Amino acid sequence: MEPESADRYLVEEIRRGQESAWRQLIDAYHGRLLAFARTRIASLSDAEDVVQDALVGFLQSLPNYDPARSLETYLFTILRYKLVDRLRSRKIAPLSVDAEEDDWWDRIGPADGETPSQAAAQAEEARRREDLLVDLLRRMIHDYRDRAAFQDLQVIELLFYGGKRNLEVAELFDMDQKAVAGVKFRAIGKLRKFFEELGEAVLNELGDDAMDITVAQVWRDRRLTCLKRSTLGSYLLGVLDDPWLGYTQFHIDVVACPLCLANLRDIEQEDIAEHDPQRTEHLFTSSVGFLSRTS
Ligand SMILES: [Zn+2]
Repeated sequence: MEPESADRYLVEEIRRGQESAWRQLIDAYHGRLLAFARTRIASLSDAEDVVQDALVGFLQSLPNYDPARSLETYLFTILRYKLVDRLRSRKIAPLSVDAEEDDWWDRIGPADGETPSQAAAQAEEARRREDLLVDLLRRMIHDYRDRAAFQDLQVIELLFYGGKRNLEVAELFDMDQKAVAGVKFRAIGKLRKFFEELGEAVLNELGDDAMDITVAQVWRDRRLTCLKRSTLGSYLLGVLDDPWLGYTQFHIDVVACPLCLANLRDIEQEDIAEHDPQRTEHLFTSSVGFLSRTS
């Protein structure tokens, strides 16, 4: 089963109140959630509390969850809300975080399309268009990879996923700012052409700025260039070859994707003491009550 369809099945089972499915989700995801919380919170037990909050929050928001979206990203989004909440209320001590990292997260907006107030038909149409854009972006990304145009791909990943400005990207790659703008211009132009060919007027009518925002939103929401767990595992084992090795290092070190970093740390700790079966049990017993209430 593809990871996404496995997740979809798991969520269906949880919606039906299956405790074993809930336990399975905790087993699969709590490690990376904790790894992420620990990059922001000084104390382990505070971090565990926030993960517990996020799991309960997931069960409570389950009616609004769109299973077509990435379960992992959804869980991280909830965790992030809970973290910001707690840190703001100063109930817990933060780990000193550099401002830039905070900024990066702030530019990652919450997943949209989960507002229940949206009219269903309107939401459906927006979804259809978004899926189309995702499809086209994926094709575009594959095309860069097939042509081994990794620098161009990295430039647009930093612009759209990393939220960096042209100047910052130019400095990072030692490029001319105009060259960076050119890569972006060509990428947007290619997307517009795709839409034209499909006779899709709506996205094509968007101005350049709106198009930028839409692409960035979709890229982040769907995490189009994030790394699979298996790729991160191979990376840790040192068995990854170029160009994937170079690309993985870029996503981890330059983009500094907090979600892939949390996964990496979680995989690293899978075999050592930080992985504690008692913790899983505690997370399960403290949240399972909310499962029956939602079903
Ligand atoms: Zn990532």
